[in-house]
Amino acid sequence: MSDQHQRWIDLRSDTVTQPSAAMRAAMAAAPVGDDVYGDDPTVNRLQAFAAELFGYEAGMFAPSGTQTNLIALMTHCGRGDEYLVGQEAHTYKYEGGGAAVLGSIQPQPIANGADGSIAVADIGAYIKPDDMHFARTRLLALENTIGGRVLPLDYLEAATSFAHARGLATHLDGARVCNAAVKNGQSLRAAVAGFDTVSVCLSKGLGAPVGSVLLGPKDFIEQGKRWRKMLGGGMRQAGVIAAAAHHALEHNVERLADDHRNAADLAAGLGRIEGLTVTAPQTNIFYVQVPDAAVAPLRAHLAARGIRASIGANTRLVTHLDVSAEDVRTVVDAFGAFFRDWRA
Ligand SMILES: *Cc1c(COP(=O)(O)O)cnc(C)c1O
Repeated sequence: MSDQHQRWIDLRSDTVTQPSAAMRAAMAAAPVGDDVYGDDPTVNRLQAFAAELFGYEAGMFAPSGTQTNLIALMTHCGRGDEYLVGQEAHTYKYEGGGAAVLGSIQPQPIANGADGSIAVADIGAYIKPDDMHFARTRLLALENTIGGRVLPLDYLEAATSFAHARGLATHLDGARVCNAAVKNGQSLRAAVAGFDTVSVCLSKGLGAPVGSVLLGPKDFIEQGKRWRKMLGGGMRQAGVIAAAAHHALEHNVERLADDHRNAADLAAGLGRIEGLTVTAPQTNIFYVQVPDAAVAPLRAHLAARGIRASIGANTRLVTHLDVSAEDVRTVVDAFGAFFRDWRA
């Protein structure tokens, strides 16, 4: 496809969305101030709205989920402390080791099961005794959704109450917790029950251009603001982007169900194509096994038809608010045409 093509169907991530006209109008109209002084009314309104929505005392707006997670880890844990985390977790694997590098916090990674959980028995086994040989185990950090999977409700209840009973705090990397809530037909409050703090991304499926919120107790959020400033996340007239985040939380949560349905339809369509092995989606992210020899030609075939995807042997496909049901049919047809002609 040439550059003059109207638009790509982009399945690489739910971070690729464009702000809608209504979202841009909200941004243009937002009253702003210097948020480092606490003066930005739109940031303050977003933080209060998000805290209320998820059932926490206070909230903090920051430029990215990597930063809200790091602020949470650095506020829960000090130098020489440890957090328990899944091997596949974003905070451990995809955030540059920030907790260790910048926080002097030791991660204790634990294997994730097929459903994305880390076993409660393993959590117990990895909590270190109070002994000078060991780091102090302070925190359990879970992620929901994780790789598009929704953690089971009884597991969340068991893991968070176990952690609390053993004296640990609990943090949820809820970058996509709204997807989990919509999938479960739960309120956002119910979806984060059991977690002392949660980080929520507004720039994923909710469709804002920038930003995450960290939610938790008032004093925790106040302490966290020091780390945010140190990490370079103290923003000035941030109401311009907070307005988009607010719009996203108000208007784009329920519609995540459309993304889930589109992912299910896409997976079903691809699953009927010989040569592909598809893992059925629970939410808006799923994986397709592509034969090694097909990877490069398939990528080129799709690109020529206006479809961007992270094609590999283990291909991750993601639906979002800029992928329509019609786009899904276009993508299924394009994959189908490729595999009709392709021979290993
Ligand atoms: C995207 C994401 C984050 C934060 O990413 P940023 O790009 O820094 O906003 C954190 N956790 C998970 C699970 C994510 O998918």
